[in-house]
Amino acid sequence: MVKKRIVLTFPHKLVDKPIVYKLVKDFDLIFNILQAKIMPNEEGMMVVELEGKKENYAKGVDYLKEIGVKIEPLSKEVLRDEERCTHCGACVTVCPTEALYVDKKTMKVIFDSEKCIACELCVKACPPRAMIVKF
Ligand code: SF4
Ligand code: SF4
Repeated sequence: MVKKRIVLTFPHKLVDKPIVYKLVKDFDLIFNILQAKIMPNEEGMMVVELEGKKENYAKGVDYLKEIGVKIEPLSKEVLRDEERCTHCGACVTVCPTEALYVDKKTMKVIFDSEKCIACELCVKACPPRAMIVKF
């Protein structure tokens, strides 16, 4: 099995096509959309986690390339310096994927790196600079 986080950029003509449906149905891939947006020039952008058998993954990626979707790996990683974090919560409201959230019992801010799409919004929002980008 292969599981990768990738960034897909769709040209305008593909924005309303059932691409996700095809990947799931024809290539038996698990497709988890972590972030999606339409850019000002009407291109579509999605950060996704794609999972499936190695050969199906390769076929799915080939299909995307053939129809004109640009594929890039999510090459950055965002980490938290636990010693610097003061659990102030400033990052929680800016995180689009709920990778940063408040544990109601302890009132501490939890960082779930599995949900992080490395958008860096928390890096700018964190007063003590506890969120760090690793390339
Ligand atoms: S903004 Fe920074 S210091 Fe505040 S909770 Fe988030 S990571 Fe911790
Ligand atoms: S980089 Fe920060 S704001 Fe963006 S998804 Fe990861 S934890 Fe959330």
